[in-house]
Amino acid sequence: MPVDSEDIIREVMAEEGASPAEIPDHSKRQGVRGYGQSECENCDRTWSTYRAHVVFDLQEQVVAKIYKQKCKRCKQEHVPSFPEDEFTVMIEKAIKQEKLFRDPNSTLRKVDEGGRRGRPQRPPHESKLCEKCGYGNGKKCWER
Ligand SMILES: [Zn+2]
Ligand SMILES: [Zn+2]
Repeated sequence: MPVDSEDIIREVMAEEGASPAEIPDHSKRQGVRGYGQSECENCDRTWSTYRAHVVFDLQEQVVAKIYKQKCKRCKQEHVPSFPEDEFTVMIEKAIKQEKLFRDPNSTLRKVDEGGRRGRPQRPPHESKLCEKCGYGNGKKCWER
């Protein structure tokens, strides 16, 4: 996660003309997927996934939640981090998604599923290692 994530959220929202004061409570939280990278402090394993999930609160202009993934080798939970350019794209997606949510008739096209870094491959990760997948006990997070 870029350390100055809240500054980036404010900047991107200002660029997109998205005013936090206009965003109602019922649509302020928007979850998007992106390319996340993880490095396990415990066993030094590194991995990445195109299906890392972040929930933004666009009214508060903060990251509300980042879904964790478990290390495949040692099973320690880990919060993925995002390169700054990817993080920026994810905020842009969250802003578009919020507008669509608030106004389903808007002329915006459906938000692109893939990130800037290309199309995800299937399966994107092992669901038993993914918090968003309920560590294998929930619905797979890449299915809708
Ligand atoms: Zn590990
Ligand atoms: Zn998952």
